[in-house]
This record gives sequence, structure tokens and C-alpha cells, in this order.
Amino acid sequence: MSRVLVIGCGGVASVAIRKCCQADDVFTELCIASRTKSKCDALAEALRGKTKTVVTTAKVDADNVDELVSLINSYKPDLVMNIALPYQDLTIMDACLICGVNYMDTANYEPEDTDDPEWRAIYEKRCKEKGFSAYFDYSWQWAYKEKFEKAGLTALLGCGFDPGVTQAYCAYAKKHEFDTIDTIDILDCNGGDHGYAFATNFNPEVNLREVSAPGSYSENGKWVEIPAMSIKREYDFDSVGMKDMYLLHHEELESLAVNIPEVKRIRFFMTFGQSYLTHMKCLENVGMLSTTPVMFEGHEIVPIKFLKALLPDPASLGPRTHGKTNIGCIFTGKKDGKDKTYYIYNVCDHQECYKEVESQAISYTTGVPAMCGAMMLLTGKWTEKGVHTVEEFDPDPFLDALDKYGLPRSENFAPVLVD
Ligand code: NDP
Repeated sequence: MSRVLVIGCGGVASVAIRKCCQADDVFTELCIASRTKSKCDALAEALRGKTKTVVTTAKVDADNVDELVSLINSYKPDLVMNIALPYQDLTIMDACLICGVNYMDTANYEPEDTDDPEWRAIYEKRCKEKGFSAYFDYSWQWAYKEKFEKAGLTALLGCGFDPGVTQAYCAYAKKHEFDTIDTIDILDCNGGDHGYAFATNFNPEVNLREVSAPGSYSENGKWVEIPAMSIKREYDFDSVGMKDMYLLHHEELESLAVNIPEVKRIRFFMTFGQSYLTHMKCLENVGMLSTTPVMFEGHEIVPIKFLKALLPDPASLGPRTHGKTNIGCIFTGKKDGKDKTYYIYNVCDHQECYKEVESQAISYTTGVPAMCGAMMLLTGKWTEKGVHTVEEFDPDPFLDALDKYGLPRSENFAPVLVD
């Protein structure tokens, strides 16, 4: 028996909500609240008669702490699932603390306005101190650790696939497969084709900011930063085939470097086709990826927001995307004094996802872990108070839930390594 408030009703939230409604013995009551209430109402209507979960809807501006507090106090949920955007992480965490409710999200905080001088000063200091320049980092949310601990509450950060499942794979490898881990390579392959010349698979603004930023990796306790897309490898992915992949900075690298300190090197690679990269470079060169407002015919517009309005809505890609994703982690290390390698990954089929929840695999592979993470908190499998990332919890019940709810793991005990 539990009451859950989901904030956001976009591509990922829609999958998470549909999956919560499949587990209606755990998720008995659920409120979908977002900026555009009509989207919440449409989803609630689509679910009517298909689940025992009692689904209600509400309108909320999640940038506004007072609005959030009054919604949380009136609905009284056991857990708030933040599946809006990373921009709202801190306001929703503040509201959860005020109301005494557990919190979770799927992406770490970054500000909407990267020109804000107050934020910029802290960011530039962090770039110098830590050595990576991504707009997002965990410092903002880790700063809430003591407050959540003192309040006896849990905040689960980044519980999608990557971040999220990739960290559970690391915790699983550490618990069952290795005595010590030397290297981790996280490989995110999307072999799907949607037929558009250019589109992003999740929120375009967040996605394009991430992939156009410099890449970085952690080596011997230090960050090494490289120009965007300057390290390229080829890999032959199970069920997908040979793909080009590029080294990116990614948020779980930061928490894994802290939580598995023995690891000598952690890298993250994502596959991109040449057409995607050419389009992105061109858009970047002409200034369309900028978050700085410009005046156009008397109106102030933010280029990347305007671009988002022109691009296909990621939620609309479902029916036209064919192919598979393959996301996982390759480890090297030692077990019982011997060298060992291990690869754990999931393969997900875009069309199968669409048949099940009317969504492509990127939203599916994020929404299912969000639901399974919520389930771990609601059923008392994960109880640690404070602010935590996925690798800090027991991976076994979480991976079992993923196996059951649509993202089964595969293993390879002699994988080809990435050089
Ligand atoms: P969408 O843009 O599709 O959906 C975002 C939703 O949040 C929309 O319903 C939007 O409302 C709502 N929203 C935005 N601002 C506010 C606000 N101020 N108040 C209330 N609601 C608001 O994004 P996605 O579903 O693609 O992504 C959701 C999250 O998942 C993001 O944080 C993304 O970074 C993360 N993600 C994580 C991954 C992982 O593996 N960990 C992978 C992919 C995504 P409206 O309809 O009005 O716009």
C-alpha cells in the first residue's frame, strides 16, 4: 500500500507511470502532477480500467517551492518521484524536506540559466578544483545529505538507466564478481533508427547540452578532460552490431569514483551516427545550442529552447523507431587472486517497448528503473537515510525487479575490451 506523487509527465514519466500501474499491489495510489495538466489527464484517461492503481492528476509549477509544498501536504505521498527536468531537482528536494517525504529523481541537478552570475561563480570554482566542466555535478544535491539524514528521509539520485542501472551493475560486480575492480567502461549504444535526419531521444535541451560538452574520464583519482567527441572507438554490440562510440562526461562517473575508490579508470562511451554529429556540430557552430537569450524581432528567445520547439517531440518517436539499445558495463579486476573480465548489459527493443507502453526504448530504459527504484524504497528494500546514488544500495533486489519488469540482464565472462 503506497501513495506516490510523480512530478512531470513527459516521455520518461509516462513510462514510469505505466509501469507503476502494472505493479498496482505496490503503487496503490498515484498522483501525476506537471506543468501542463492536460498531459497528465490524458495519461490518466489512457490508464483507466487497465490498473487497480487509483490515478489522480494535478497542476504544479515545480520551480515554485510553495506550490510544491501545498500539493505534497494535500496529497500526503510516501514518495515524490521527480521525473520533470534536472532544473527542478533542488526545489523538489526542498519541498520534500519541508513536508517530510522521501525523494527520488533520474538526473542530477543543473541550472536552467547557466548565465546566472551566482551559479556561474560556484561553477567556475568547481571546474578548476575538480577538473571537469560539465554544467551538472553532484555537489548541489550532496549538500543536502545531512538535512535528509537528520530528517530521517531518503533521497535516491539518478535512478534511470545511465545514471542508475549502470551503477547497480557496478555494485553487483563488486558484490559478486570481483574482489577488486581496476577499470570500468560504461557503454551506451542506441542502434535505433527513427527515420528523421535529426532528433533526440529524450529532452533535446538536456540531451544536446550533455553531448556537446567536453568529454572527461576519471583516472587514478583525477579527471582528464578532452575536447567533445575527440576519443572515438568502435565496438561490436550484442544484438546491434558494430557501432562508433565516443567518450563523454557522464554523471555516474563522479559518484562511482567516490564510492568505488579502488577503481583506477572509469570511462563512459555513447554511440552516435555521423549524421547526428554533423547536424549537432552545425547547430553548435551557428549558435543554436546556446542557452544565452538573444533578441529577435523584439522578442527574447533562448536558441536551444527555440531549437527544441522545432525538433520532433521525443515522445512522438515511439511508433517510428526500430532497432535495439544495448547498455552496460565492462569490468576488469581480480577475483581470488586471478585477473578477471566481466560485462553485464541489457538489450532492449524499440518496437517491443512501443507495443507495451507506447514509447521508444530510451524512455523505457529510463522509466522502468525509476519505477523499480521507487519500488525498492516503498517496499523497504532500500532504507538508508540521507542522499544516495544507486551503487550505495543492495543491487540484488533492484536487478531482480528489472529482470521482472522488462530490462533483463545479460552477462559475458570473456568480453572484448575497449582499448
Ligand atoms: P520531457 O521533456 O519529455 O518531460 C519533462 C516533463 O517535465 C514534462 O512533462 C514537463 O512539462 C515537465 N516539467 C518541466 N518543467 C516543469 C516545471 N517547472 N514544473 C512542472 N513540470 C515541469 O523529458 P524526459 O521525459 O525526456 O526526461 C525526464 C528526465 O529524465 C530528465 O531529467 C532527463 O534528464 C532524465 N533522463 C534520465 C536518463 C537516465 O538514464 N538516467 C535518460 C533520459 C532522461 P510540460 O509538458 O509542460 O513541458
